[in-house]
Amino acid sequence: MSVTHTLEADVLRRQDPQLADILLGELDRQSTTLQLVAAENFTSPAVLAALGSSLANKYAEGYPGARYHGGCEMVDVAERLAVERAKALFGAEHANVQSHSGSSAVLAAYAALLRPGDTVLALGLPYGGHLTHGSPANFSGRWFDFVGYGVDAETGLLDYDQVRTLARNHRPKALVCGSIAYPRHIDYALFRDIADEVGAYLIADAAHPMGLVAGGAAPSPVPYADVVCATTHKVLRGPRGGMLLCGSDLAERVDRAVFPFTQGGAQMHTIAAKAVAFGEASTPAFAVYAHQVVANARTLAAHLAEEGLVVTTGGTDTHLITADPAPLGVDGREARGRLAAAGIVLDCCALPHGDARGLRLGTAAVTTQGMGEEEMVWLAATLARVLRGETESQKVREEVRELTGRFPPYPG
Ligand SMILES: *Cc1c(COP(=O)(O)O)cnc(C)c1O
Repeated sequence: MSVTHTLEADVLRRQDPQLADILLGELDRQSTTLQLVAAENFTSPAVLAALGSSLANKYAEGYPGARYHGGCEMVDVAERLAVERAKALFGAEHANVQSHSGSSAVLAAYAALLRPGDTVLALGLPYGGHLTHGSPANFSGRWFDFVGYGVDAETGLLDYDQVRTLARNHRPKALVCGSIAYPRHIDYALFRDIADEVGAYLIADAAHPMGLVAGGAAPSPVPYADVVCATTHKVLRGPRGGMLLCGSDLAERVDRAVFPFTQGGAQMHTIAAKAVAFGEASTPAFAVYAHQVVANARTLAAHLAEEGLVVTTGGTDTHLITADPAPLGVDGREARGRLAAAGIVLDCCALPHGDARGLRLGTAAVTTQGMGEEEMVWLAATLARVLRGETESQKVREEVRELTGRFPPYPG
């Protein structure tokens, strides 16, 4: 059953055509342009079905078997299923699947392990740290004393020696590893070693690579970190939301940090959709998908470099690529605008050195559509043509429409 068909047949069209048009318009945008925003993906119709289900009506404060509301028999089963599937998928002793978002999961990890005013060592924001890693505009920067480590200005790689030196000097209560833009695998064992040396907790914010971890295409932080935070909607391809994994020793603290400390009622439709996504992510097909995501990103990165873009760290281990388009005569902001006009949707990002903005893109969504390395080669060449101004945006927009027509995200 196609999503378009469901929507058209839906009561929404009869009751609220204005809103139905917006939903169809967005579906059309997603289906006819290229989604290279590194944090995005296409959830399955099964995940969307769980999201649009009667579980959206249910109040369920608390945890299965210990709720503040009546009538939780069915949603308790759904949440237990999500928890069991998450534990099995990631080999974790404990899972909390209630976090409303990746940021909520990080907030809960801090609430479980820290007190206001504690020192925390995390990747600095200019190098790809997330807002929750100490931005002054975020609770994290207001309530904790963040010290930022960086990446090597030349290689763009994490500077583990600097992490160790800063840890020795500042004696943080927690060390955070994880990034919104770092394209390489993180050496979790090395972070664990540094954390142990200074007696700090290790928090892995694996929001981006968690789907690759599920598919066996990236190393897992679970054996090393005290608490792992993640989103369920990036490469993992589930509903928008967060999750936390930890050992049995921290289970109660983590659960209490989510509810009642930082959240109220759990969103049971989302938790059910997380269970569906964990089920999908445990299949051999998902492992194939995760490896193809990386193969596509590697091919795309190599061809972007061939076209003259400066690819940070010289390539990627993951779904994520950051690159400086300056050698083609445009900065990141200008490049993003021109590419958007051509139907190629991606983000700007900070670069390891200097103030210039770069481009950040990822292959999770296009790989879900079934695109492979052949399409990545075409994409790199096309992106470069647009940035060099060799082809009219409108002409490329038509080529993109033709390509996406062959790889519909929701075939109907
Ligand atoms: C995406 C991301 C988050 C936040 O996820 P939201 O669901 O947008 O709150 C947190 N940390 C990292 C490293 C991320 O990449």
